[in-house]
Amino acid sequence: MSNVTVCVRFRPLSLKEKKVHGDSVCITCLDRESFIFKDEKEEDLPFCFDRVFYQDSAQADVYEFLALPIVQDTVKAINGTIITYGQTGAGKTYSMEGLGILDCDENKKGLLPRVVDGLFQCINSSPEDIKYAVKLSMVEIYMEKVRDLFDLSKDNVQIKENKSQGIILSGASEMPILNTEEALKCLSRGISNRAVGETQMNVSSSRSHCVYVFSVQRESAIDKRVKTGKLILVDLAGSEKVEKTGAEGKVLEEAKNINKSLSSLGNVINALTNGRGNHIPYRDSKLTRILQDALGGNSRTALLCCCSPSSSNASESLSTLRFGTRTKLI
Ligand code: ADP
Ligand code: MG
Repeated sequence: MSNVTVCVRFRPLSLKEKKVHGDSVCITCLDRESFIFKDEKEEDLPFCFDRVFYQDSAQADVYEFLALPIVQDTVKAINGTIITYGQTGAGKTYSMEGLGILDCDENKKGLLPRVVDGLFQCINSSPEDIKYAVKLSMVEIYMEKVRDLFDLSKDNVQIKENKSQGIILSGASEMPILNTEEALKCLSRGISNRAVGETQMNVSSSRSHCVYVFSVQRESAIDKRVKTGKLILVDLAGSEKVEKTGAEGKVLEEAKNINKSLSSLGNVINALTNGRGNHIPYRDSKLTRILQDALGGNSRTALLCCCSPSSSNASESLSTLRFGTRTKLI
């Protein structure tokens, strides 16, 4: 049994895909776990995952299958991680945030607002002799630097490891959160800081990884024992291969950094799947270092591979599906 749950989500065809390429779709649904993928050479490739969400999938279904069990464990002090992977435009942010954090249509809400709701529901329904304290940190990894999205003056947060807490973002702001409403305000503020940074530096969100860390501390009134569950959500940078030709200066530097961190992620996953005793190169990138606990087995992890269903994106989708298949082997 894999310790990572791997799901695939196909978004609906975009208007542009329909207009430019017609509505040719490269997948045929078999059931909720498998489908046939037609690659660029028109070859049929079968794929199987823990769950496949097709074009008409509901945000609530993705949450319930992929995130709810992890949320329930976080409150019991078991660490969890949820990652969205895929090329730019494949639906990572739609799945993670939905169409906005505040004032979002109920059925357009993404994982984040549902996770927050789920955490507080679990907390409010647990026995009264357990006290909880929830905190939220948000950072962005851009050009191999970790920026605090609640305090932009902290633009080089260090990742450290300590015995009791595992991997930590040393000195990053931790916003105390008492209820869903406050959490959503914080999330929205962090995300807008990301946007400000983007325009200032002329970066698009597809060039950076966004990391959300909920830490849920529980203290039992009976034996005074304190335990913490950490839930990390990661909206990864676009996985597309960036054309080296033509890219120069900052764009080329960005591309190299993204390729580096995503390929380190691939290398870590390969090392983990190649049997015991291997050296696992977690320290090769900030991303893999942050995900060390999640991938190393100290956490419940779910990966959502986001894909376009369009034949015109078959090559990038195939590479996303292969990444998912390899991750399932961990
Ligand atoms: P990414 O974050 O992977 O670059 P986005 O999440 O921003 O991609 O999605 C690109 C576009 O497709 C957005 O306009 C988004 O609203 C839309 N979209 C993505 N997934 C879905 C979906 N499952 N249902 C409807 N629209 C979607
Ligand atoms: Mg995005």
